[in-house]
Amino acid sequence: MENKHPYSITFLGTGTSHGIPVIGCNCAVCTSTNIKDKRFRSSVLIESESTKVVVDTGPDFRQQMLRENINWLDAILLTHEHRDHIAGIDDIRVFNYRRKGALTFHCYPRVEKEIREAFAYIFANKKYPGIPEITFKNFENDNFLVGDLPFKPLTVLHYKLPVAGFRVGNLAYITDVSAIPNSTLALLNNLDVLVLGCLRREPHIAHYHLEAALQIAQQIGAKQTYFIHMSHDMGLHNEVEAELPQNVHLSYDGLKLNFS
Ligand SMILES: [Zn+2]
Ligand SMILES: [Zn+2]
Ligand SMILES: [Zn+2]
Repeated sequence: MENKHPYSITFLGTGTSHGIPVIGCNCAVCTSTNIKDKRFRSSVLIESESTKVVVDTGPDFRQQMLRENINWLDAILLTHEHRDHIAGIDDIRVFNYRRKGALTFHCYPRVEKEIREAFAYIFANKKYPGIPEITFKNFENDNFLVGDLPFKPLTVLHYKLPVAGFRVGNLAYITDVSAIPNSTLALLNNLDVLVLGCLRREPHIAHYHLEAALQIAQQIGAKQTYFIHMSHDMGLHNEVEAELPQNVHLSYDGLKLNFS
């Protein structure tokens, strides 16, 4: 997929649903003073010179917007309806005020339905003043455009749940995943960067663990692979990073990668 405009990805969060530190946990990772061991819930900013898109609005959305000084969004892309990916929706209001109107959410029809139920007040017939304004645009497998950024949806499985990943240019972003169908693997050729969910060292029913993620990353063969959606069980950032192959990394909050 051609993309002639320079763009970048900024990791807003790289943690699993609990975030790191985990509330009340005294393990070495949760008490680490290394900033790379602090992980908000997984989300990224993808931006070109004229377009800013955030993937997922988890419970840390407000803190992520503040940390990265984001004062404008053109759209939100949603991967799936689990709360660690949508719980921050109420905080999009400030972007409604800036735009003087609705913010577009791109997601599967199923995810739209779940959000309409989970955030019923936003879609009530008689709306309370000042609540979020959302317009949905559904996708299944077809490419769609936000400003000058062309997105190709990538369907993966999160246990049995289909979850959307996205390819833009030679970057692919895949978060909660335990299996990648062959039809999606066929869309992952010639990647400069693969971002891939990898929960921990021990197997898990709904997420890749380290060994499985390393195996699929090698099969996909991106120039560089960055793992996200990590739990504290993965271990200390610097120790895990040191044992990974040279072109595979643990991502960390605040990391920014540029593409031309
Ligand atoms: Zn811990
Ligand atoms: Zn999930
Ligand atoms: Zn998740």
